[in-house]
Amino acid sequence: MLDKVGAFCQEKVIEEFEAKSRDAGKVQDNTLWRILHENGQSEYLQKCGLGGRTDPESYRAYVPLVTHADLEPYIQKIVNGENKSALTEKPISTISLSSGTTQGRPKFLPFNDELVDNTMQIYRTSFAYRNREFPIKSGRALQFIYSSKQFKTEGGLLAGTATTNVYNTDQFKATMKDILSQSCSPDEVIFGADYKQSLYCHLLCGLIYSDEVQFISSTFAHGIVHAFRTFEQVWEELCEDIKEGVLSSRITIPSMRIAVSKILKPRPELAATIRRKCSSLNNWYGLVPQLWPNAKYIYGIMTGSMEPYLKKLRHYAGDLPLLSSDYGSSEGWIGANVNTRAPPEEAVFTVLPDIGYFEFIPLRRDVGSEETNLTAALAVYNEFEPVGLTEVKVGEEYEVVVTNFAGLYRYRLGDVVKIKGFYNSIPQLQFICRRSLLLTVNVDKNTEKDLQLAVERAAELLAKDMAELVDFTSYVDMTSDPGHYVVFWEINQEASESTLQDCCCCMDRSFLDAGYISSRKSKTIGELELKILQRGTFHRILDHYLNLGSAVSQFKMPRCIGASNQAVLEILKNSVTKSYLSTAFG
Ligand code: AMP
Repeated sequence: MLDKVGAFCQEKVIEEFEAKSRDAGKVQDNTLWRILHENGQSEYLQKCGLGGRTDPESYRAYVPLVTHADLEPYIQKIVNGENKSALTEKPISTISLSSGTTQGRPKFLPFNDELVDNTMQIYRTSFAYRNREFPIKSGRALQFIYSSKQFKTEGGLLAGTATTNVYNTDQFKATMKDILSQSCSPDEVIFGADYKQSLYCHLLCGLIYSDEVQFISSTFAHGIVHAFRTFEQVWEELCEDIKEGVLSSRITIPSMRIAVSKILKPRPELAATIRRKCSSLNNWYGLVPQLWPNAKYIYGIMTGSMEPYLKKLRHYAGDLPLLSSDYGSSEGWIGANVNTRAPPEEAVFTVLPDIGYFEFIPLRRDVGSEETNLTAALAVYNEFEPVGLTEVKVGEEYEVVVTNFAGLYRYRLGDVVKIKGFYNSIPQLQFICRRSLLLTVNVDKNTEKDLQLAVERAAELLAKDMAELVDFTSYVDMTSDPGHYVVFWEINQEASESTLQDCCCCMDRSFLDAGYISSRKSKTIGELELKILQRGTFHRILDHYLNLGSAVSQFKMPRCIGASNQAVLEILKNSVTKSYLSTAFG
């Protein structure tokens, strides 16, 4: 995908993707053939009895739909070195850790060169389309990216988060250069073992190169909001460092200190300019274009559980466009955002038909149910036989099933997507929610998306006290009789008792699921509880996940905490400052 002089050839990438998109069914069949041809002798596929067959019909007949739990014994054999070819013919040498924010602990997944190639392919594809609409010049990117620690498993395999595994490859560096995404920060910052120190240095390096920065990004929007919230706290210290040319004593990691000190020279005029600009801002509105005047956009995943951060992100961005990035997971990538101009709320992902074989389990709500609104319908699913990539129907919802080049076969990802349209013959997916995250006491079922909508509606009431919601999560308390929903909020400043009481009642009434409403009326679900948390609680939860091996780059706050996640529940319960109960339904 390089032209004669070694530069990235945008039009060629687009041309190739367009060609694949016109015949996605055939590309999918070829992809399945390649996967099965390369891995037919693996222990797992042999056990399935596939017997060397490579066609879609046999594949579906012999290989069952599975969850992570079903594959765990095979993954375990790989991890402890017992059989590195349990899932793929070519032995697996690296393991990825998922963020673990859904189930409370990271999942182990096989990782290999093919997944790296897929990642580079998706980066290049979405960049080609993005750059056509929002061209950038050669310069730098302020990227809030962090590698987590890698470690050796019992069987001697290298293990780390998927993003870390990718950052550690030569292909990553080469691709970043090609797609004009050279980070402001030296590697020692990205690979530093302490994300708080890395974040400080990312901000510092971003300011040093402020005129060169072409865009600002992070894997997930949370990472960008988190960075600028931190900036609000440390900007004066950053100015001081730039003025004096001496790095703050808070950076204690020697390699990071040396690398950043090399680019930090005394620049009193730059420090004065930053100081003046920061002081002129009203509540930090438009911070990004003010400090990075040549930035063309902000880039990162802004869909799904990231949507609640959009308001704050827009505040920092001022009039700078927000571009939502691609859809993937530690299990592999799924689709690229090639409709760059769509606002993040309307972002769709066009599946790359040659990076995996994709099936979709149709999910339909109970016909007997009376509710008419769409989000409530999400929760009440009936499942049907999976269909192929090109057989999905516009407007319908599905669970994604992945077969990849790293040993996952008909693997249920647990994500719910909706088909919004087709790009030639490829469906375009809208991310809806993770299936497992549900609030349910009895007949009610509310997804993380339903909760998000109810919280958004209630949080609007905070505006009258000039307060804003920092983050939220929830759980179902079954120790009361009847059980009830508990929603935790962290807000940035005090709000009055009456406002918070109103927020609590508004939230209770904003769940549109018929099961919830009828149960509340019949008192088979108790009053909703709103619990206000100490400031900084969500930072502590982030720290908790990082201690478990997750990376900031992959962090997604789970919006419904299950019973298996006692540790997070403990942090939440110990941080409550005030509680409110909604009133009974009339
Ligand atoms: P991880 O555990 O870090 O591998 O996270 C993967 C999960 O993140 C996916 O299964 C999705 O639930 C979520 N995710 C990834 N990309 C997106 C996206 N573009 N929009 C919404 N959610 C996403």
